[in-house]
Amino acid sequence: MNSKKTVYVGNIPIGGKHPVVIQSMTNTKTEDYKSTLDQINQLYERGAQIVRVSYPDIKCKDSLKKIVKDSPCPIIADIHFDYKLAISAIDIGCAKIRINPGNISKRNLSEIIKVAKEKDVPIRIGVNGGSLEKEILKKYNYPSSDALFESIKKSVEFFLDKGFDKLILSVKSSDVIEMIKANLKLKELDFPVHLGVTEAGGILRGSIKNSIGISYLLLNGVGDTIRVSLSDSPVYEIDTAKIILSSIHMSSNVPDVIACPTCSRTTFDVVSVQKEVENILENVKSNVKVAVMGCVVNGPGEAKDADIGITGGKDIGVLFKKGEIVQKGPIDKVLKNFYEELRKYGK
Ligand code: SF4
Repeated sequence: MNSKKTVYVGNIPIGGKHPVVIQSMTNTKTEDYKSTLDQINQLYERGAQIVRVSYPDIKCKDSLKKIVKDSPCPIIADIHFDYKLAISAIDIGCAKIRINPGNISKRNLSEIIKVAKEKDVPIRIGVNGGSLEKEILKKYNYPSSDALFESIKKSVEFFLDKGFDKLILSVKSSDVIEMIKANLKLKELDFPVHLGVTEAGGILRGSIKNSIGISYLLLNGVGDTIRVSLSDSPVYEIDTAKIILSSIHMSSNVPDVIACPTCSRTTFDVVSVQKEVENILENVKSNVKVAVMGCVVNGPGEAKDADIGITGGKDIGVLFKKGEIVQKGPIDKVLKNFYEELRKYGK
């Protein structure tokens, strides 16, 4: 969205003025074709536009080749250490490869670049705080933003020197502040940028860390594609990424749910209803706004502003659609109708 260059990953444009692209990574065994493709389909349904798959061993080759062929979205191969796997990934049709220059020699990088150039396949240079080149780590003592930036800058220079510029860059750290500072420096290099706080933790901690790092950078003009890394199902990575983008008004096809935090005035089980609403909306691709409000204090105001909303009064529920009251009555009956109406948005 913010860099001047655009790089295509399959049919997905990244960079330039294009919208921010959501990606995730499978956590199945790549040699298990069925489980991996099932997960890719699930991620795609949920909103992933490109999916990264590990290519740790040549034994995965046949499976990865079939995955690339059958996937509904472009597949990126994640490569570490073995340059031959990078070349193999390009040969079998991966739309992009992600390599870590900290663990591939310059001589082998040159071989990868030669094949990527021939096949016109983009490369993400992914620098991670946990796997920096030894000499850089020695110079800075720890994986600071300066260390991350020096590493990626050297790599970019190497690629450009070899005549290859179909690059996407990422500098990731588990430290949110270092990740932010390193990414701000990437403005100087002017390539599309992939954002994420790596090894961020479980759903709560990881979502918060990623939301801070990713949203700060996007709002400051850095970032073209994002991955929220979580120690949990990658499906939650997509959910979090979608909420980040819609919260900062960078996505127009994500539902919004407004739900009150509940208090002693609450007239029905707002927490359970809110969870059910999220379940119903999980694969919905629209900007429908839903309100679940526990009482009349803020309820009618928020519900009126929503496409569909429910609120409660003494012994009654009230259902709103686009500001109009469409039902008033016992809460159970109103809730039943509310869910039925909501399910229509998924069709
Ligand atoms: S909307 Fe009503 S029930 Fe919900 S937190 Fe506010 S006062 Fe409490």
